[in-house]
Amino acid sequence: MSPVLARSRHVETSRASPISEHKRTSHERRDRVDLTKILIAVCAILVLLIGGADAEQCPPGALGVSRTLVVDSTEHPRVGSMQYPETLPLDDHEVVLTFDDGPIPRYTIPILETLASECVKATFFMVGQMARAYPSMVRRVYDEGHTIANHTQNHPIRKMSADQAAREIEGGFESLRNAIGDSQAVSPFFRNPGLLRQKSVEQYLDAHGDMTWSADFLADDWTRINYSEVARRAISRIEARGRGILLLHDIHARTVLALPEILNELKSRGYKIVHVVPAAADRPKTATSAEQWVARPTPEQHTSPSQMRPLRRPPKRGLRTLHDVRFEAKADIAPKCPFVRS
Ligand SMILES: [Zn+2]
Repeated sequence: MSPVLARSRHVETSRASPISEHKRTSHERRDRVDLTKILIAVCAILVLLIGGADAEQCPPGALGVSRTLVVDSTEHPRVGSMQYPETLPLDDHEVVLTFDDGPIPRYTIPILETLASECVKATFFMVGQMARAYPSMVRRVYDEGHTIANHTQNHPIRKMSADQAAREIEGGFESLRNAIGDSQAVSPFFRNPGLLRQKSVEQYLDAHGDMTWSADFLADDWTRINYSEVARRAISRIEARGRGILLLHDIHARTVLALPEILNELKSRGYKIVHVVPAAADRPKTATSAEQWVARPTPEQHTSPSQMRPLRRPPKRGLRTLHDVRFEAKADIAPKCPFVRS
């Protein structure tokens, strides 16, 4: 075959007729449709995988949050059996975790990591000055799904006038709102520094619909005990009562070290973690009865039938031992935190 003929045949075969052109276009269109379907399928698989990655971060054995309790702060202005006749309406073996005095990155970050490893949520009562010093930490705590609450602007442990109380409370809320940049992100939950009760503070909080939290048990993590003892005290007090609000501080190394042990023990003893959030327009309060809010005495308070009072006498001037929080915290808090006196 001459090269010319061969070339003409090649040209002939390569030139498509209108019908074959139509078929090819149709095939290409079908291929494109198939490719789109494949891409959609791949995307769907990726979405599932990403979801799976989240699930992987929360392994089946994790403690987890058993339920979210939505509360109306105006209906129950003060909770915590250590000081008040009401506490959160928890079922037996339900615990609420709270952390005071932070945030401080060196302690708050490992605490967040431990909480994330067990998929549990807590309430952080933050000091306004700390929030101003570490606003990104406030945002991180919020972004990780925990409840942001107020622990005053400067953590004063002294008697305050009504004006001073208003400044401390509003200053704390404002610092938290500014750190997150969303006023809705901050709960109306408040805890007194040193659990110090003051009429001026209570009157102000009542008038503004804020909810004061005391606690049902402490772990003494601000005292000079080792972390194992912090964990032991936390667990033994939780066991004595069976349910309630645990108060810890995210400004101490011993708390960082004790937390994994506390969570492991709670898990092995069948406890569940409840996350508490405030009611909102799109988040109705959890249905509860008045009876469920009544604080019960711990078994150890039943020393004799004549002493079976509903509550031990609440401390009138707060808990003396907790007043040491400020001074214990000195060594741990970075010097740039201005509320800590040197
Ligand atoms: Zn405090």
